[in-house]
Amino acid sequence: MDYLLTEQQTMIRDLARKIAVEKIKPVAAQYDESEEFAWPIMKTLAESDLFGIYIPEAYGGLGGGIMDMCLVTEELSRACGGIALGYAGTGLGTLPILLHGSEEQKKKYLPDIAKGKRLAAFCLTEAEAGSDAANMKTTARKEGDKYILNGTKQWITNAGEAEIYTVIALTDKSKGVRGASAFIVEKGTKGMEFGKKEKKMGIRASATREVIFTDCEVPAENLISREGMG
Ligand SMILES: Cc1cc2nc3c(=O)[nH]c(=O)nc-3n(C[C@H](O)[C@H](O)[C@H](O)COP(=O)(O)OP(=O)(O)OC[C@H]3O[C@@H](n4cnc5c(N)ncnc54)[C@H](O)[C@@H]3O)c2cc1C
Repeated sequence: MDYLLTEQQTMIRDLARKIAVEKIKPVAAQYDESEEFAWPIMKTLAESDLFGIYIPEAYGGLGGGIMDMCLVTEELSRACGGIALGYAGTGLGTLPILLHGSEEQKKKYLPDIAKGKRLAAFCLTEAEAGSDAANMKTTARKEGDKYILNGTKQWITNAGEAEIYTVIALTDKSKGVRGASAFIVEKGTKGMEFGKKEKKMGIRASATREVIFTDCEVPAENLISREGMG
């Protein structure tokens, strides 16, 4: 079914299909076996501008929408679900910035994501907070011009490989889910570490790790939107 795709969407789908068949399919079994992260394929996707298809032109993207990203994910998944997840996980980590980020945050982060220079990840799940995300325990305490993050996120796609992390943490525990806020945390921030790579039964070419925050200092300007908007 083509869902009445536009001409541009048809081109995007065909390009993703070509990459899936010609570049991913021949190496899919190898990556699944070795559990390596498929950086050469990410480079191919970047060179083909596929990381930027849902990002506005003003930030270096092609100005399409989420449907375009879904088309690419679907095509890549035909060859390897794990590699496709590395691509889609970046979309997941990017969306909070795209939807609610400030102009400064968009200018700072989106162009690199659009070019595929930096991957992104989305950190919500915890050991006791899966479907019941409101049960999260990770906190973000405001101290001057910083937030101090403490807690452990679990099963985070692209963790360790990505450079940009959107992290949901409680700024006000008494408000429950209404006290959850979203932050941008860059890889390399002091107090941010990664757990061991999970061994999975499938989609093994995708990287899944814990992301551990121990008194991790995040600049207050990295809060997305305002407190309680997580
Ligand atoms: C490969 C992989 C990658 C992931 N990547 C990310 C990521 O990038 N970022 C991130 O934040 N998280 C990620 N996750 C976590 C994922 O979002 C959670 O696994 C998901 O939210 C479900 O949570 P859970 O595993 O704790 O299952 P649970 O919430 O414990 O659910 C277990 C089962 O119980 C059912 N269930 C739960 N609650 C109810 C209810 N009230 N009524 C009826 N049935 C119910 C569920 O449908 C499910 O079948 C990833 C997980 C995996 C496996």
